Amino acid sequence: MNLHSPAVFTRRQTLKTALLVGAAAAAGALPLPALAGPKKPSAPEPKASEAPKGPFSLPPLPYPAEALEPAFDARTMRIHHDKHHAAYVANLNKAVAAHPELQSKTVEELLRHLEAVPEDVRAAVRNHGGGHFNHSLFWTMLTPAKGQLPSGDLARALEKSFGGLNPFFEAFDKAAASLFGSGWVWLSLDLQKNLLIESTPNQDSSISRGNVPLLGLDVWEHAYYLKYQNRRADYVAAFRSLVNWNFVAERYATAMA
Ligand code: MN
Repeated sequence: MNLHSPAVFTRRQTLKTALLVGAAAAAGALPLPALAGPKKPSAPEPKASEAPKGPFSLPPLPYPAEALEPAFDARTMRIHHDKHHAAYVANLNKAVAAHPELQSKTVEELLRHLEAVPEDVRAAVRNHGGGHFNHSLFWTMLTPAKGQLPSGDLARALEKSFGGLNPFFEAFDKAAASLFGSGWVWLSLDLQKNLLIESTPNQDSSISRGNVPLLGLDVWEHAYYLKYQNRRADYVAAFRSLVNWNFVAERYATAMA
């Protein structure tokens, strides 16, 4: 799976302003806007058509937007993919625009080694790169072939770690319910190759912890609010029937090999 995607940033500018304000405050004076003088022409707003086109791109949904009805409604899926995910991709492209050395890396490489990302774009890469990577995985972890069940080695590992599929889902649901604010809940493999349920805030990704995410659930309100409003538990319950366990089992086998 190619998870390339991109962002723009104004953090450097913000930082510069903050430093100026700090210096002025240290000198005992607040910076004041100029009162008179010729107006400087302001820099033109960049047009959408001038936004960097790459190196990262939005992968298409692997099924029609209405394919997951009624559990996940088509309108939410369209907005979620075409607007939210697209914005993470666009903002990641902006973030790497001024850093050619980042443009040849995959989003996984960027997220696995955030410490190697220049500080001025690290937060943007973490947020928007995470958003791109997490959503790219999320679409493929869902399937219109409803009612799949884990099998083989993965089924045995779920049995061993959680006592089976239902106890796993109970623990997973609990993690989703107790995640405050926005974030993700994951079934992951840790560095010792043990299964674990973990949650990450915002768009942080499990892979930035060195883990291998096998299954993830987006618990941002944008993922469910149109259909479920505040009923997060109903959304999480609906998710159960959509899990692409064949895909999860493949990821598990690859990671264990
Ligand atoms: Mn989302």
